[in-house]
Amino acid sequence: MAISNEYLQSVFDGLKQRNANEPEFLQAVEEVLESLVPVIEARPELQKAGIIERIVEPERIVMFRVPWVDDQGRVQVNRGYRVQFNSAIGPYKGGLRLHPSVNLSILKFLGFEQIFKNSLTTLPIGGGKGGSDFDPKGKSDNEIMRFCQSFMTELCRHIGPDTDVPAGDIGVGAREIGFMFGQYKRLTNEFTGVLTGKAIPSGGSLARKEATGYGLCYFADEMLKDCGKSFQGKKVVISGSGNVAIYACQKATQLGAKVIAVSDSNGYIRDDNGIDYRTLQEIKEVKRDRIKTYVNYVPSAVYTEGCRGIWTIPCDIALPCATQNELDEQSAEALVKNGVIAVAEGANMPSTPGAIACFQKNGVLFGPAKAANAGGVATSALEMCQNSARLSWSFDDVDEKLHGIMKTIYRNASEAAKKYGVEGNLVAGANIAGFEKVADAMLWQGISY
Ligand code: NDP
Repeated sequence: MAISNEYLQSVFDGLKQRNANEPEFLQAVEEVLESLVPVIEARPELQKAGIIERIVEPERIVMFRVPWVDDQGRVQVNRGYRVQFNSAIGPYKGGLRLHPSVNLSILKFLGFEQIFKNSLTTLPIGGGKGGSDFDPKGKSDNEIMRFCQSFMTELCRHIGPDTDVPAGDIGVGAREIGFMFGQYKRLTNEFTGVLTGKAIPSGGSLARKEATGYGLCYFADEMLKDCGKSFQGKKVVISGSGNVAIYACQKATQLGAKVIAVSDSNGYIRDDNGIDYRTLQEIKEVKRDRIKTYVNYVPSAVYTEGCRGIWTIPCDIALPCATQNELDEQSAEALVKNGVIAVAEGANMPSTPGAIACFQKNGVLFGPAKAANAGGVATSALEMCQNSARLSWSFDDVDEKLHGIMKTIYRNASEAAKKYGVEGNLVAGANIAGFEKVADAMLWQGISY
């Protein structure tokens, strides 16, 4: 598929040549550049200032060795990364991912998306992402701690409360953030809000844990309302059973829907009576167990091996909350055939380009990740505010602010789409609304970065 603008295509061709081995990064950039065609055509000053050439190149990438000792006394070595993509509107901000699949392509795609997502939140945060190919699965608490301490020993040179503020992502929850925060504090002798997603007694924000999943449902709710629909009485399928999936399950249930399936990378459980999010929470957060054990608690649930089959379950609303490219064209066709009315992305880039095209062609309401899952990072920015002011807000206060932010994101994405002649296309609208603010800040700051 060619980008329908010669200049944007030529920037993309150059990027492809320089980053031929980074498919996920190229996929993310191509989608954004295609959306920006009407903006570049309407605003020639952006081309003149080389905004596109600059925005696709990270400001800085740090790659480092992470040595640690396992429980058998053997030395292990992983690779650590921090991609500091864009600081035009604030300090770099974005999660840390610990997963064996982590590589530069995945972190650059995530960091690139993060620029626009963070801009959409309306809060002053730049884009970044980081992590390691370390696999936390099957590791003891002590091994996790030793890895996190070693990782932070190098990372601490590159971050700071006004420079770069990492958070959690796949494989990084409150436990890992705690080990990293403790090490940062020890190395720098400072108690600052350098990481978000902290535990409450260490300066964490109430409602941060819930924020991405709740925000996803608030966004989907706005999308549905705009068409006179709601969550009430709808059947919902959610992939994943991690942080985002658990709280999407809780909020969708509170909004009157019935969540009938959730998954992990091995398989999925289905229960047409509705998944109990408290049991899900107990299994995943307390026991750190596999999703198949859900059937031991709830006998009416059925477990099926293999995670992709989840998209063949008939539902009204699909919320992919696991990982990138988990929902392909074939899965999208199955969802459409079974009557899905709305899809909102909790994970980052979970739908392949073919799947998105299928939803759009068939009139399915589609909420793209950078808008729909921005509630997590927005609440992280609220955690930064509380840390700077040395205050803590109540759960309801934070939740109310989150709800307001998600409504604004929906409105801004939807209005940007209308302004540039692609009404109803939230993929384009989110890319455009996120981009324009960053581009204007870059224009204003001159060609320093
Ligand atoms: P977690 O590590 O808490 O959970 C990830 C879940 O997805 C696990 O249940 C995992 O299962 C499952 N999973 C992984 N691969 C697959 C697959 N191919 N099919 C089905 N399930 C799979 O991560 P989060 O919930 O934090 O993150 C999920 C997604 O949301 C990621 O894309 C992340 O970037 C994005 N996101 C997260 C935010 C946050 O605040 N946490 C904010 C914005 C976006 P298993 O245990 O088997 O690996």
